[in-house]
Amino acid sequence: MSRKTKDWNYAPAPESTAQAKVAKRYDLFINGKFVAPKKGGYFRTTNPATGRKLSDVAEATQADVDTAVKAARAAYEGTWGKMSPRERGKYLYRIARLIQERSREFAIIETLDGGKPIRESRDVDIPLVANHFFYYAGWADKLEYAFPNRKPKPLGVAGQVIPWNFPLLMAAWKIAPALATGNTVVLKPAETTPLTALKLAELIADADLPPGVVNILTGAGETGAAVVNHPDVNKVAFTGSTDVGKRIQQAVAATDKKVTLELGGKAANIILDDAAIDQAVEGIVNGIYFNQGHVCCAGSRLFVQENVYEEVMWKLKRRIETLVVGDPLDKNTDVGAINSKEQLKTIQRYIKKGIDEGAEIYQSECELPSSGNWCAPTVFTNVSQSSTIAQEEIFGPVLAVQTFRTVPEAIEKANNTPFGLSAGVWSDKGARLFQISSHLDAGVVWGNTYNQFDPASPFGGYKESGFGREGGLHGLSAYLDL
Ligand code: NAD
Repeated sequence: MSRKTKDWNYAPAPESTAQAKVAKRYDLFINGKFVAPKKGGYFRTTNPATGRKLSDVAEATQADVDTAVKAARAAYEGTWGKMSPRERGKYLYRIARLIQERSREFAIIETLDGGKPIRESRDVDIPLVANHFFYYAGWADKLEYAFPNRKPKPLGVAGQVIPWNFPLLMAAWKIAPALATGNTVVLKPAETTPLTALKLAELIADADLPPGVVNILTGAGETGAAVVNHPDVNKVAFTGSTDVGKRIQQAVAATDKKVTLELGGKAANIILDDAAIDQAVEGIVNGIYFNQGHVCCAGSRLFVQENVYEEVMWKLKRRIETLVVGDPLDKNTDVGAINSKEQLKTIQRYIKKGIDEGAEIYQSECELPSSGNWCAPTVFTNVSQSSTIAQEEIFGPVLAVQTFRTVPEAIEKANNTPFGLSAGVWSDKGARLFQISSHLDAGVVWGNTYNQFDPASPFGGYKESGFGREGGLHGLSAYLDL
């Protein structure tokens, strides 16, 4: 196949950043106010597409975490705890509406700070954030209907720690159900993407949420550890890597904290020979290349039935060559910047490992920008089940392809990883979709589509992908004593 499948380009269509107000410096959001960190440290957050600094952000230490947990406790025992569920719901509706009003600003800042294409942050992340708050606002005064014949009670103060791949969406997944169930919150965003959580803190203050109900502390792993290990935190909600998740589970093992862990993944997409191939290829591309593969449920493994392998690979490679890689603020961009230099190094290390272990590499011939963190869309074929790239989470735009002859073989191969977060099946027959999906060890299985989210639908994993569910009724129960 000729690699030159595209000899034209879209005209640049960059989103204006005029609406994105990023302050030079951000303090910690504690008890309804922005306050300087007690030890006075700040760290920089940069734009991964250019390497340029965006802002200085406060680093919370143990003393700040103590103050924030105290504020959250006082709000739980005071205003928030005494407020009627209906009134609490009104605050959530207000937050949801304010997010909709300011959605453009949030989308631009998400893209500047995280490197994801503006099309993703504008059309996926921010609308889902607003929907999440709307959805849980509706439940606030209906908990007894959600859990009939039980007496749902809030847990208290929730310590929440989130990653960098969906910064504001993960904050919404954590804060909305916690508040709807009457808990108060101390949330720590990831150190490379703190800005939209801090903008959310501004919005929460504008919404007049009583002081202390939501506290947002920025910092790195040490700050996160101080939040989850705080003795006055009743509920720990963590989304991030399996390594850190294991450490958190050990740390809380001897406590009565309720815990949910949303961890890594190594999702399999299975294409059967009766699938609509063009549609399947588009779904595979969406699942691993859009958002740079920075998705816990990224379809990073592909299993193709042998008799359609040649056709799938031909179409997949052609499609990869047409992907627009570059300026995340450009509305034509499909693949944005890798979130950090460290993550880029990790991805490059895995690509080298794939080659060293004998897999065959194919990379898009796209031109990569000269500054910032970039990785061309990559496919590996000739991959074995034991290859590192087929077993470990890479968290980048790297796909490992294998073949199968029979459905049981596909199921066995798909289940052969330590993870169990998500999967996709592509077939013309509904019965085959249901049959296969019921045998896959995965919290979510998509049929003839991929990466679809809805606040009413629970999300979470098995095995080393963690436990507990976010979204839907399951997401409520994680914050309740039933
Ligand atoms: P990470 O585990 O390195 O960091 C996640 C968060 O934990 C960050 O805020 C970090 O500062 C904090 N942290 C680090 N060490 C800590 C400690 N000892 N105690 C408490 N907090 C600590 O993960 P990451 O690189 O930011 O995110 C990528 C990972 O997140 C991937 O593995 C991905 O699959 C996973 N993820 C899972 C889901 C899901 O729903 N299952 C969703 C998104 C991301």
